[in-house]
Amino acid sequence: MHVPTLIEKKREGQELTSEEIEFLISGFTSGEIPDYQMSAWAMAVFFRGMTAGETQHLTTAMMESGSILKYPAGSPPKVDKHSTGGIGDKTSLVLAPLLACDDKWVPMISGRGLGITGGTLDKLESIPGFNIHIDERRAIAQLKSIGVFMIGQTADFCPADKKLYALRDVSGTVPSQALMVASIMSKKLAESLDRLVLDVKFGNGAFMKTRTEAEELAKAMKQVGDLMGVKVTHLLSPMDEPLGRTVGNALEVAECVEVLQGGGPGDLIKLVLDLAEQVSTASRSQLAEWLKNGTAWRKFISLVYAQDGDSSMLEKLAEVHAAPIIKALPAKSAGTIAKMDAQMIGRASLLLGGGRETADEAIDFAVGLSGIKKIGDRVEKEEPLMMVHARTESGLRSALTFLNRAAEIN
Ligand code: URA
Repeated sequence: MHVPTLIEKKREGQELTSEEIEFLISGFTSGEIPDYQMSAWAMAVFFRGMTAGETQHLTTAMMESGSILKYPAGSPPKVDKHSTGGIGDKTSLVLAPLLACDDKWVPMISGRGLGITGGTLDKLESIPGFNIHIDERRAIAQLKSIGVFMIGQTADFCPADKKLYALRDVSGTVPSQALMVASIMSKKLAESLDRLVLDVKFGNGAFMKTRTEAEELAKAMKQVGDLMGVKVTHLLSPMDEPLGRTVGNALEVAECVEVLQGGGPGDLIKLVLDLAEQVSTASRSQLAEWLKNGTAWRKFISLVYAQDGDSSMLEKLAEVHAAPIIKALPAKSAGTIAKMDAQMIGRASLLLGGGRETADEAIDFAVGLSGIKKIGDRVEKEEPLMMVHARTESGLRSALTFLNRAAEIN
């Protein structure tokens, strides 16, 4: 097959066959098809979309690019959650250990930051030593011993998504329904799950700007799940203000530690419990109790330990990754917060160094925002709306161009 012809075919809005899609995915995964051709193809998909059949073929080709997890006979039900990406969305770090407090296995394959949204893997890697690349044998052994692992796409698991995800992040091709469905569902199907809950975000800080677009995305993902025998449910959650009060890798892990120790912001706790209820057989009050009484916290410590992380650092992450410049953003007037724009805050976080501009760029774990006021909070004039954690004065200045427009006070 001839790659430029396949790119042109999609550019002209024609339907690709399963063989053509399989050829593109396997060629890209093996390195025979270069990034520039795959970016052009992804952009054509972005503009032209894919039929349900093409999306299904793409998902299958991406899932089959690596191993599909096999479990010992008689093992507990396998459950997981995936989010379509948000600002300050750190739920996985609390949810995965919480679900594993029950008699469930949680084999979580996540992604890095994508566009202006943060990624679970980048957050986990802010924990000194944490290893997101354990192999299948070790992953299964970990499920047997503690019921949970959190890893990334590797050469073994979903290598096609590993490459395509990184390429989409830096080529303006993230918010395509077909590419999102295939990216998310290929990872989740490779986990051989019994139940999956999808957190489908909509709003100005999400890839799907409207509730209707989010509903369509949810429907498309559920359709793929149904065909593959996985029970998929979803929640539609608004993403107009950041989740919780922090944005930035180490800052977000520190906030998760608060939640796992029985504290933390109400919106984050509520979303964790809403999602957990969809896939757990434990009651909401039992799940809340595991957050309050340290059961989920102890599970998180064992997870960090099992994946080579230094759990003694978990309560000191803000010090381990202290940014050299920490500045308050003062309120211009007294009143009630009417808007705290997630998109502006996500863009600011990217400019501070919390995300990537090129695929191989390193991420700055220390930068971001903390103490972010929530819609409905009362503030006095000059009171900090948030604290900005920056590496350089120029990073701070660039971030402020967005942050100065993020809040509205009535
Ligand atoms: N999460 C993913 O894994 N893939 C996407 O495309 C978006 C969010």
